[in-house]
This record gives sequence, structure tokens and C-alpha cells, in this order.
Amino acid sequence: MTPSDKAYVPFVSVDHMMQLIHHIGLEKMLCELTDAIEADFLRWPEFDKTPRVASHSETGVIELMPTSDGEVYGFKYVNGHPSNTRTGHQTVTAFGLLADVATGYPVLLSEMTILTALRTAATSAMVARALAPKGAHVMAMIGNGAQSEFQSLAMKAVCGIDTVRLFDTDSAATAKCAANLAKTGLNVVICKSPEAAIEGAHILTTCTADKQYATILSDNMVGSGVHINAIGGDCPGKTELAKGILERSTIFVEYPEQTRIEGEIQQLASDHPVTELWQVLNGTAKGRTSEQQITLFDSVGFAIEDFSALRYIKNAIEGTGFSIQLDMLADPDDPRDLFGMVQRSAGRARIIQSMLF
Ligand code: NAD
Repeated sequence: MTPSDKAYVPFVSVDHMMQLIHHIGLEKMLCELTDAIEADFLRWPEFDKTPRVASHSETGVIELMPTSDGEVYGFKYVNGHPSNTRTGHQTVTAFGLLADVATGYPVLLSEMTILTALRTAATSAMVARALAPKGAHVMAMIGNGAQSEFQSLAMKAVCGIDTVRLFDTDSAATAKCAANLAKTGLNVVICKSPEAAIEGAHILTTCTADKQYATILSDNMVGSGVHINAIGGDCPGKTELAKGILERSTIFVEYPEQTRIEGEIQQLASDHPVTELWQVLNGTAKGRTSEQQITLFDSVGFAIEDFSALRYIKNAIEGTGFSIQLDMLADPDDPRDLFGMVQRSAGRARIIQSMLF
């Protein structure tokens, strides 16, 4: 292999991801991501699936989320640390990788903190598009942190939501969210309580961060006919909804084996019926069947959504300047002479050191 044949791995940094969003347009990107995720849900049986591998601590969780469709392999590294914002850190940070199954070689490395917010919002919108009541145009957004604007804009772009009613226990978070959404065309209403936020809303999104069994929505707050998009309960011991709401709802999940460990349904018996979303999307399971029904998306985030998002990004950066080439792959002229390649680099190491000192 000559130096010009050397294989590099494209890397999308946080800065490049932000530029890519502006290049494509945020709402267009959310629509395209929604369709990309839906396309992969429609070929669900082709994927390797496993609940994510979680390492829990007192302050949070670090998780690995792998999947493969037999041609491409992907994984995401992601954390969830609800107390991080107190020290100026994100609750959720992530990066992810795609690899070619035939060779095992990585083909993309990307930041995924922003991409997770985009794919989580796109997944919410994909599900609401299938399950929300007809004509839904008002959403309550409870929890106005890092995910909230993305959730709101995906619902606007994909489902035609025109009004968001905001509530957060921290009024500064609500003020931030309202300011960020001010020029998006959404009608933004700041509310003083969760009860006020859900007034007249057809879609109720909960997206709070607290490492406990919390009750963001109690049973008496939720009337018939709404669609609930429960995002924040995504870890053992971390939920947002009163059990009574779950008992009155038809519950839709990504991957039951993972959701039973991490989702709202950890509060229910392990055989409580749930419907898999991919089957609703391909028409083999029922979605909403009546105007009175409460549909609940018990979102935890599944590896296939990250896989779809990474593949979308890999295509989107082609022909743009929104990535750099990483020297991640060792490529000795003789593949078995890795040691010799290391030895031959000694001279260059001396030159680089002598330039520094
Ligand atoms: P964040 O820390 O930026 O925001 C969380 C917000 O919730 C904060 O503004 C906080 O004040 C508010 N909050 C806490 N308790 C509340 C309460 N009782 N009522 C109203 N508001 C309350 O976190 P984020 O990045 O926006 O993530 C939110 C949650 O979503 C986290 O729990 C995260 O793990 C989860 N998440 C889920 C998915 C998924 O795919 N399901 C993806 C990403 C994040």
C-alpha cells in the first residue's frame, strides 16, 4: 500500500456536527432523520439486537449500545448523569462509530451528544406521527433541558405541532428553552406548573433528569385521548410517570428486553403487554384504535436509532468539509509486520521530539 492508499476514518467533531446542521437546516435534518430511523425500524428483523450494556454508579450510568445489520456495525458510548448540570457538565454526552462488517474496519467516528438529541427527537416524532390523536397540534414539554428544543422542533417539523407549553422546576431552564424557540414559528407558552402545561395539550412529553422514581405526571393529571412521549425514564430506578397512568395506557416500546429493565414499565409486571413499534410501523400490530385511548411511548433509546443516525451522517458529510480524516488504522506494508512498522517510525519520533525541545 502506498501512502496515498492509506485508509483514514472520517471523524465528525462537535463543531462539524453544528455546521452540518446549519448546512442542511435543523428541521429538514429532523425530518430526514425521522425517515431514516423509520426505514430501519421497517427492517427490524435484519438487525442484531441486545439490551445496552450499562455500568451504573451512584451519580449516573455509562452505556454501550451496539447493533449490526450484517453489513454495517455500529455502537454508541453514552452516559447519563442527572447531577452533571450542577457542575456545568451535560447530563448526556456521547460518541459513536460505524464499521464495515466484512473487514471489521471503522468507517466513521462521530460526536453523538448533539446527534443523540436529534435522533431522540426524531424517534419521538416518528412515534407521534403514528400514534398521536388526529389533528394534534399542542404539546406540553415538561423538562426544559438539553433535549427540549430538539423535541419541540421535531414535533413541529414532522407532526405539525404549532404550540408548546413549557414547564420545568427550574424556571431558568424554561426561560432558556422559550428564548431558543422564540423565532422558530412555534407558539411558546411558559407555564407555572405541570398541570398548567398539560392543559389542552394533545401530546405530553416528559423529559426530566433525576435518578429516582419520580412522579412528573400523576394519574389524575392525564385525561383520555392524549399521546404521552415519556423520554426521561431510561434507567433502572429512574421513571417519570405514576403507575396508574401506565395501567390506563396502551404502551409502545422500542425493544421490550431493554425497556423492561430501563423504561416506565419497570414499574409493571414483567409480562404486562406492550406493543413493539416496528410492528405498528409495518402494519402487523395495531397503533391507536380509538379517540379515547391513551397511547404511551415508553422511550429509552435503542441502538438501531443511533445506527440510523450515524449512517445518515456518513452519507450527509460526503462531498462536504464537515469532517476530518483520522489516522486510526495501522497499515504496515506487510499486514503481519506490525512490529517492523513500529520500529521504522523511530527516526520520525526523534525528529518530532527534537523539534519540540
Ligand atoms: P437536562 O439535565 O439537560 O434537563 C433535564 C431538565 O429536567 C432540567 O432542566 C431539570 O430542571 C428538569 N427537571 C428535573 N426534575 C423535574 C421535575 N420534577 N419537573 C420538571 N422538570 C424537572 O437533561 P436532558 O439532556 O434534557 O435529558 C433529559 C432526560 O432525557 C434525561 O433523563 C436523559 O437520560 C433522558 N434521555 C433519554 C433519551 C431517550 O432516548 N429516551 C435520550 C436522551 C436523553
